[in-house]
Amino acid sequence: MSGGRYSIRKRVLVTGGAGFIGSHLCERLLANGCDVLCADNFYTGTKDNIAHLIGNAHFELMRHDVTFPLYVEVDEIYNLACPASPVHYQFDPVQTTKTSVHGAINMLGLAKRVKAKILQASTSEVYGDPHVHPQPEGYWGNVNPIGPRSCYDEGKRCAETLFFDYHRQHGLRIKVARIFNTYGPRMHPNDGRVVSNFVVQALKGAPITVYGDGGQTRSFCYVDDLVEALVRLMATRDGFTGPVNLGNPGEFTILELAQKVIALTRSKSRLVKKKLPMDDPRQRKPDIALARRQLSWEPSIGLDAGLRKTIAYFRAGGTGRD
Ligand code: NAD
Ligand code: UDP
Repeated sequence: MSGGRYSIRKRVLVTGGAGFIGSHLCERLLANGCDVLCADNFYTGTKDNIAHLIGNAHFELMRHDVTFPLYVEVDEIYNLACPASPVHYQFDPVQTTKTSVHGAINMLGLAKRVKAKILQASTSEVYGDPHVHPQPEGYWGNVNPIGPRSCYDEGKRCAETLFFDYHRQHGLRIKVARIFNTYGPRMHPNDGRVVSNFVVQALKGAPITVYGDGGQTRSFCYVDDLVEALVRLMATRDGFTGPVNLGNPGEFTILELAQKVIALTRSKSRLVKKKLPMDDPRQRKPDIALARRQLSWEPSIGLDAGLRKTIAYFRAGGTGRD
């Protein structure tokens, strides 16, 4: 990549950079003056998400699967590669675990070799179906190790273990972000997650698919807020490792979300109830006291404002540009 030893630009690797969050992060890092290397195997991400960055001399795109080693010279690594939607991570669960675990080993090995700082995109799923509410980082979680969500939940938990062992054993500078449900432009229309499903269905006038009774809750963070937090986390002092919860503490039932989407799109869609997937967490809300303290961060975009931006994106065709 460009930006060798004659450049003063920070060289940053973003794995999963062609995905929903990754593409926004690449954009943000370029705006911050970094040289960005985006590595992605396009499993759930698409070139459309980063097509507008390709002419930029400080952006480089590489087709790469993180389950294989990678040899590049970088200063910082954001490890985001992993399908994130239950539909997609359950499609090939063995590959999902490999991506989380082998991907973490490969990226940690790279960080060790080139002495890079490395951030892991972990997840609120490490809390499973939580018995503690809201969830603080000190809660160890309630995760089924053998269910349909385990490939993702346990894969991410093992990745956290690897990050902390590399930190303790090899002195690596690590940052672990536990990301709660994040949404916004560039979610794939067939992503399968609740916000994109509801918005796409409402805009088409198709039935809104509520799983179960819709009384389960989630806390939704707009992608710009999340990217701000990731960049701040990477910039924290070396001793600060996290894990740190990143999300919006506003908590909504899935029915409330459906009603908001219908109102904001002025859709005539009706609700249809579908079977609740196995092990679907009943409630989820981040305790973000640690992020407030360590990153001086809290989300600034509420659900209505974020949904309006997301709806505008899908109304315009949902083609990667926003
Ligand atoms: P996404 O599916 O849009 O992005 C994931 C990206 O990783 C895609 O571009 C995909 O092609 C790529 N990828 C998958 N397997 C790969 C592999 N083996 N090698 C290289 N690239 C690979 O999902 P997202 O929402 O942008 O999620 C990004 C990261 O954030 C993921 O690690 C996810 O687990 C984490 N996360 C997201 C959320 C959320 O609500 N969006 C919540 C918690 C955690
Ligand atoms: N959900 C739903 N309808 C959909 C998609 C999802 O009711 O079309 C529900 C799902 O059962 C879960 C919540 O919305 O309770 C969030 O699902 P998502 O897949 O977005 O993320 P999760 O937090 O479950 O990983």
